[in-house]
Amino acid sequence: RQLKIDVITIFPDYLAPLRQSLLGKAIERGQVEVAVHDLRQWTDDVHRTVDDTPYGGGPGMVMLPEPWGRALDAVAPPDGPGRPRLIVPSPAGRPFTQALAEEFAAEPWLLFACGRYEGIDARVAEYAAQRMRVDEVSLGDYVLAGGEVAVLVIAEAVSRLLPGVLGNAQSAVDDSFSAGPDGLLEAPAYTKPASWRGLDVPPVLLSGHHGEIARWRAERSRERTAERRPDLLG
Ligand code: SAM
Repeated sequence: RQLKIDVITIFPDYLAPLRQSLLGKAIERGQVEVAVHDLRQWTDDVHRTVDDTPYGGGPGMVMLPEPWGRALDAVAPPDGPGRPRLIVPSPAGRPFTQALAEEFAAEPWLLFACGRYEGIDARVAEYAAQRMRVDEVSLGDYVLAGGEVAVLVIAEAVSRLLPGVLGNAQSAVDDSFSAGPDGLLEAPAYTKPASWRGLDVPPVLLSGHHGEIARWRAERSRERTAERRPDLLG
């Protein structure tokens, strides 16, 4: 196995898509192992409470540290072998990028903690950081209802970088934001037929001239990036 993924959430069913498609096949082949844990199993009252009102007042609820502490201790025992890298999705986290996906893909074990409501009591990340590496990660400048969708996004971006998971390893190198196109957006792609509804595929792509095709793609890549994402040109 190349990667173990643990997810702690109050909505385990939300993570079912982890077993689909590319990641599902990687699980079948034994390259990736996924375990989803229901946070409520670590509550200690009949209502299986995971949240309470915020200290200092204000709207919404905050996730209790007690169930989270027990969950982390059970999934990654302090005296167990190895340490996971804990990823806590949060709008206040560092932006998720392809570079961060590459970093995560080099880890043997990722543990995701899904917040809901107004998030998890801040001491949980502080406690975890005493014995594992913790990254708060944001998908972007918008607010989701919970961390589950972020886990699906991060797990998919990471798993397609694992050796042998993508059918064609070169395609990950050529992707947008990757080393191939120098971190720029990838050039547009075309397939058959060469002429469709009056629109033609750029002739150079039919020329069989590898050098010219590579040059054309590099130019389109720069042009597209300048137009759509000038911030990437840095
Ligand atoms: N009160 C929080 C704030 O304004 O920063 C928002 C909490 S949000 C409603 C609930 C949970 O959704 C968060 O704890 C986090 O797990 C997840 N979440 C929301 N937006 C996210 C984003 N942009 N990236 C990653 N996770 C996000």
